[in-house]
Amino acid sequence: MRLSLIAASLAVGLSSTAWADSPIGLVIHGGAGTIDRASMTAEQEQAYHAVLRDAVEQGYEVLANGGTSVEATLKAVTIMEDSPLFNAGKGAVYTWDEHHELDASIMEGANLNAGAVAGVTNVKNPILLAEKIMTESVHVMLAGAGAEQFAKEQQLELVDNSYFNTEFRYEALQRMKAAEQALPHQAHVRDPNWNMGTVGAVAIDKAGNLAAATSTGGMTGKRYGRVGDVPVIGAGNYADNSSCAVSGTGHGEYFIRFNVASDICARVKYQGISAVEAAEQVVHGQMHAAGGTGGVIVVDAKGELSWTFNTQGMYRAMRSNTQDTVTAIFADSEE
Ligand code: ASP
Repeated sequence: MRLSLIAASLAVGLSSTAWADSPIGLVIHGGAGTIDRASMTAEQEQAYHAVLRDAVEQGYEVLANGGTSVEATLKAVTIMEDSPLFNAGKGAVYTWDEHHELDASIMEGANLNAGAVAGVTNVKNPILLAEKIMTESVHVMLAGAGAEQFAKEQQLELVDNSYFNTEFRYEALQRMKAAEQALPHQAHVRDPNWNMGTVGAVAIDKAGNLAAATSTGGMTGKRYGRVGDVPVIGAGNYADNSSCAVSGTGHGEYFIRFNVASDICARVKYQGISAVEAAEQVVHGQMHAAGGTGGVIVVDAKGELSWTFNTQGMYRAMRSNTQDTVTAIFADSEE
C-alpha cells in the first residue's frame, strides 16, 4: 500500500511560485503491524486519528512559520511520545523485567548530522535527548546510564520509569510471557502487535532541508539490553538532502540487517529511481521475503511525501503546502 503526492503536479495553479518552488511538508507514523478493524472500537480509532492529526498539523505549523525540518519533526514526535497510545515515551512497551528502555534518533539531511540514544529509562522525551546528542555533544550515539547523565546535564525533563506505564502495554507483556513460556526465547515467534506504536516523522522545510526523527520503546519483552533499529543510523532512520529522509517502524532486527533507511536513500542516490520506488523495493522485497515486517515514511528532495508498508496497517498522516491533512490507519483507508 502506498500513497504518493507529488508536490510539483499538485502545485500547478498556485498563485505563488515561491511555494511551488519550495515545497514544505511532513509525514508521520505511529507504528505498523496487524491492525484490523474488528479489534478496534470506533472510539479507539478516533483517538488515534486525533493524535495523528494534532501531531502532523503542529509539525506542519512549524514549517509554515519558517521553522526547520528538524524542529518540525521534533514537534510531531514529542506530541506522539506524550500520548499513551504509542510505543514511545509515555505508553512505551515493557521489557521482560517489567520496566521500560527507550531508543530514539534524529538526522539532518543538510550535513548528515545525527544523534541517537539507546536504552534510557528516565528521559521523558528521548527524541529531545537525541537532538541534544546531535547538537551539543561530539558523539552520535549514547546509551544507558551515560546517556541519562548527559540528559541531566542538558537539563532535559527526567521522570521515574513508572511514568511510562500503561495497563494496555502491561497486559501485552503478560500475553507475550505466557506465549514465550511455552517456547525457548525466540524473537521470531513474537506477535507484531505486542510492539506496535513506534513513532516517527520526516520533513522538508522551505530551505529544502530534510530531516528524520524516530522514537520507540522497542519490542515487548525485550531483554539482555536489546537495542533495536531506531537508534542505529541508517537502519530505522536516515536523512540526506541528496536523496531522501526515511523513518521506519517494524521488526527492528530486520531493519538493522537490511539497513532499510539508508538502503532506500542509496537507491535514490545511485540508481536515480524515485524515493517511492526505492521504498517499495526495500519494504516489499528482500526484507519481507526474509520475514521482516514493517513500513516506512519518506520525503524526497523534491518534496514528494510517501509511505509504504507490508503489514495490515500503519498509523500515519501527512500534510504539505499542497496537501491538506490526511490521517490513516488501515491499508485501505485514508481520512
Ligand atoms: N522498530 C522498533 C524496534 O524494533 C519496533 C517497532 O517499530 O514496532 O525497536
